[in-house]
Amino acid sequence: MSILSLRHHPDPVLRRKARPVRQIDPAVRRLVADMVDTMHHNFGVGLAAPQVGTSLRVAVIEMPEQPVVVLINPEVVKRRGWRQVEEGCLSYPGYRGEITRSEKIVIKALNLEGETIRVKAEGLAAQAMEHELDHLNGVLYIDHLEDQDKLFPLEPELPQQAD
Ligand SMILES: [Zn+2]
Repeated sequence: MSILSLRHHPDPVLRRKARPVRQIDPAVRRLVADMVDTMHHNFGVGLAAPQVGTSLRVAVIEMPEQPVVVLINPEVVKRRGWRQVEEGCLSYPGYRGEITRSEKIVIKALNLEGETIRVKAEGLAAQAMEHELDHLNGVLYIDHLEDQDKLFPLEPELPQQAD
C-alpha cells in the first residue's frame, strides 16, 4: 500500500467523467487500499479516484468514528432537502467555499466484494458523498458557487508578533 500524489485543479483528469469499473480485480483492490492510505495521510473525509489520477468510478469515505465506506460505480438514488455548507477540497487547496448540498442522500453502489449496497447518509456524510460523486463526473465544489464572494482563501497563520 502506498500514498499516492494528489492531483490539483486545473489538472484535466479532475474534469473528465470517470469510467465505470467493469471488474473488481486486484488492480482495483490495490487502488482502493492506496486511496484509503492517501485519504488518511491528508486527513480527508473522502477521496475519489480522479484525485489520484485514475479516471475510474471509485470513491472512499470515512466519517469520524466510522468504518471506511468503499463506493464503486456509485449512483444517487434519492436526494432530500438542502442546506448551506462550507466546503473544501484536497484538489483545490487553500480555499473554502459556501455552497448548497442535500440534507439527505441515498446512494447505490458496489462494495469491494462486488455486492450492491445502499448507503443512506445525512448532514456531513451526505455532503462528503455528494462531493466525491461530483468528482466522478468531473465536477468540483467551486462549480456550485453562486458567487465568487462565496469562496474564501484560508488565511496563512500570522507570524507571532514580537514586542
Ligand atoms: Zn474534492
